[in-house]
Amino acid sequence: MWQIIGHERAVAYLNQGLSTNQVSHAYLISGPAHIGKTTLALDFARALNCTESDPPCGMCSSCRRIPKGLHPDVHLLGEDVATGDLGSGRTEISIDEVRDLRRQGSLKPFEGRRRVFIINGAEWLSREASNALLKTLEEPPDDTILILISSDLALISETLRSRCQSVTLQPLPPALVAKVVQERTSSDQAEAFLLASLSRGRLGWALQATENPTVLVERDAHLQRVVQLLEAPLDQRFAYAENLAQQFAKSRVNVRQELDLLEEWLEDLLRATSGRPDLALNQTWADTLTRQASLIPIEAVVDALRLLQDISSRLEANANARLALEVLMLDLPWLPAAPATEVPS
Ligand SMILES: [Zn+2]
Repeated sequence: MWQIIGHERAVAYLNQGLSTNQVSHAYLISGPAHIGKTTLALDFARALNCTESDPPCGMCSSCRRIPKGLHPDVHLLGEDVATGDLGSGRTEISIDEVRDLRRQGSLKPFEGRRRVFIINGAEWLSREASNALLKTLEEPPDDTILILISSDLALISETLRSRCQSVTLQPLPPALVAKVVQERTSSDQAEAFLLASLSRGRLGWALQATENPTVLVERDAHLQRVVQLLEAPLDQRFAYAENLAQQFAKSRVNVRQELDLLEEWLEDLLRATSGRPDLALNQTWADTLTRQASLIPIEAVVDALRLLQDISSRLEANANARLALEVLMLDLPWLPAAPATEVPS
């Protein structure tokens, strides 16, 4: 059986290819971080190499070894699933790695039916690596399936995208995330619902947060920075922009997370300014939210959300990060700070 929870359409699509023997030689699985892309890719790799009648059976030797990285015909390269970067300070997937992949792809499968190469974080492919991969896709070796995974489609060349079958994963319903969190962890109902709502439909994120309490602590620290940003003078905002721009040059993941949190907070402000603070995601910050909402008209929140979306697209289109972030800092609404230091309730 497939390990992935939900995402029925994606599973049905991949299953159809399997049952009609019309498996493509390249797939591109996209969706937000921690939504299940790698799980789906590994499920598919198992289904392709399972030796039983109802693939992926989950029991045969192939099915058991593939997720552990112990199957000689299934290779996972690129981004580390846990850390979200390439490790060892690397900033790209090099052409050498793709050459190595092409060399291995030209060999017959050792023991499975198909060789599967999973490239996690395809947006990290260098231009040369991406071009070399295109050559592979023009003349795909028999029995070799390439699965690209990305949470940032805008950074993948149109040509490369067009050569792959696209599978897009959407956020899961919060109720489903909460149910699975409760089933699989020691979380009680309240905690499961909180994590489900904070996860924005990303089951992997919610499960990680139950295993690693620092996920929530770090999230809160990031959120505090974002909240204070709206009350910070321009020099502090520019210092913040510079820091983010420096991070952006090394790894985009953190910057994207920070901007996602800002968007989340602005959406909460929108809920509060339209009279529904009860629908806010960040209920532990209710006092700060109410105070900030009383200081800003709803139109200004809408404008700020548009501005943020504009800046995010500019960053995805490889604009000058520092310049784009400075524009964001200049145009974000400014709110007077609270008279005394405020801590979240
Ligand atoms: Zn199996």
